[in-house]
Amino acid sequence: MAISAVMLESDAFLVCMSHALSTEREEVMGLCIGEVEEAEAAAPGTTVHVHSVIILRRSDKRKDRVEISPEQLSAASTRAERLAHATGRAMRVVGWYHSHPHITVWPSHVDVRTQAMYQMMDRGFVGLVFSCFVEERTTRTGRVLYTCFQSAQAQKGSEYERVEVPIHVVPRDAIGKACLESAVELPRILCQEEQDAYRRIHGLTHLDPVTKIHNGSVFTKNLCSQMSAVSGPLLQWLEDRLEQNQQSIQNLQQEKERLLQELASV
Ligand code: ZN
Repeated sequence: MAISAVMLESDAFLVCMSHALSTEREEVMGLCIGEVEEAEAAAPGTTVHVHSVIILRRSDKRKDRVEISPEQLSAASTRAERLAHATGRAMRVVGWYHSHPHITVWPSHVDVRTQAMYQMMDRGFVGLVFSCFVEERTTRTGRVLYTCFQSAQAQKGSEYERVEVPIHVVPRDAIGKACLESAVELPRILCQEEQDAYRRIHGLTHLDPVTKIHNGSVFTKNLCSQMSAVSGPLLQWLEDRLEQNQQSIQNLQQEKERLLQELASV
């Protein structure tokens, strides 16, 4: 089953971006939920629609380490099932995403191998990569790139190689409920990660008081940077959206009154 394109809904894209931009120190990851539109005779190739994403908590904050545990995968499937039930559509886990802070957007050898493993379970599974915090050399502005890929057996040897899958961001005028939940969950997950890391070192008995105070201030500093990098923009996004919704309510109300007047004059 060749995947001909991935349609990523704009609100799911926004959650991925907020997540990817939440830290420039480690890679972050999550799972994509959506539908697979099977190929038809008239239009060959299968299309994957990503409606929502699930942000995953890192159990291991090592720099280049991204892994999905079986428990996370199973919890994501349950959430997809719930979504399928609520929408009456065939939703399931269709792929995964992760970030590449300060590095190229192209998946590494490890990514391609990991992707091949997922494809053994589900041939339609796709991988998304978001590269961020990369500076454009000439303009010195930040740049964000994203790509989608699958793995295929290489021509020679037993290794795998990357196959690029075209990805399109599809505009949506409303935020899906599942996406909104994920977006709101992001600051909570990040805060929990920081708390876990702090508790781990705080429990060490051999540390002297000065080191403990230092660790405490690093913890506070990290929480503050998260607030300005994630919670602030998220709140702004929601406020903008609210304003936009109020505007459309007003427009619809005007339209309604106009129609009523028209009706009365008939
Ligand atoms: Zn990677």
